[in-house]
Amino acid sequence: MSSQSDAANDDLKRNGNTPDLEPSSVCGPHETVAPENPSRRSFFKMTVGGAVAGLVTAAGVEFAEPRPVLAQSALSPDEALQQLMDGNKRFTAERLTSDALDLAILKQNTIEKQEPFAAVLSCADSRVPVELIFDQTIGHIFVTRLAGNMATSEIIASLEYGALVLGTKVILVMGHSNCGAVKATIQGKQVPGQISALFPHIQPAVDQAGPNLEAATKANAKIQAALLRQSSTVISGLVKENKLKVVAAYYDLATGVVSLVD
Ligand SMILES: [Zn+2]
Repeated sequence: MSSQSDAANDDLKRNGNTPDLEPSSVCGPHETVAPENPSRRSFFKMTVGGAVAGLVTAAGVEFAEPRPVLAQSALSPDEALQQLMDGNKRFTAERLTSDALDLAILKQNTIEKQEPFAAVLSCADSRVPVELIFDQTIGHIFVTRLAGNMATSEIIASLEYGALVLGTKVILVMGHSNCGAVKATIQGKQVPGQISALFPHIQPAVDQAGPNLEAATKANAKIQAALLRQSSTVISGLVKENKLKVVAAYYDLATGVVSLVD
């Protein structure tokens, strides 16, 4: 994929156009749609943005106000990260706004095209419902999940697509407390089936941080984020151009708080 993506990336640099991959070609319904349709775009901004603004005013919510869903591509990487963290503040404060958005309108507006502002690489753990903990909904975030949140080739390919074609501005690699995959790697016991295929990916974090579960999980998030930055020419290229940010994070199951891991 990398040579194809590099070519697409070059194409992007040359003329600023979306590469020859339709956002709908990998995920979701397979209707062909023009990459840009200004009139449709402003309609979205008006309807969805208006709905959000009305909601915010009506609820008197002043902090961590959500942005209109389809102004996403205009966000900088720092703003995209802030938007995720603001969503997590609303989640921990139990002041969710995404559940009040009109899902029918959001669904209708994203049938043909998606413009997620952020991507998240998370563990498959059922206690980490990614959209919910960031107070996001349909079309907002591009989520890849895998036990142990590792940057495997397939995950990297998916995140490259998210960044290059869909325009995600930040990739958050998120570990979480009490992670079974990291715990099992630390224990190093025999396991049935192919479960042990996870361990080699997580072992470098255990080697680095030792047997403390939280320390190893945070180290794993950092190592996987670094892998994304280093092993993908697409991602490293976008990072160099300040069009993308890759950060490691840690989700605390007890408090619901997402914190960045430096
Ligand atoms: Zn986990």
